[in-house]
Amino acid sequence: MRRQDTKGDLLSVLVRAERSLVMIAKVDKSKCIACGVCEGACPQVFRMGDDWLYEVYTNPIPPEYQDSARKAADACPVDAITID
Ligand code: SF4
Repeated sequence: MRRQDTKGDLLSVLVRAERSLVMIAKVDKSKCIACGVCEGACPQVFRMGDDWLYEVYTNPIPPEYQDSARKAADACPVDAITID
């Protein structure tokens, strides 16, 4: 019984750790003004779409681009980018 509790605890710790590593970005196109700041900060994740508004094309965001994706979200002048 006790051993199973330990396994359950370990599993829940691992699941939480994995979730904390997965980063998903979204652009609310109803807010986007197509300024291009996000692409300038993180071109590996953000680009202009066919509708001339910006979009995320790399989800989940690879670890090496997570810092720049957060910078892009912080720099968006209309807070159109959310990162979970
Ligand atoms: S920084 Fe914000 S407003 Fe500018 S293009 Fe990107 S999502 Fe749109």
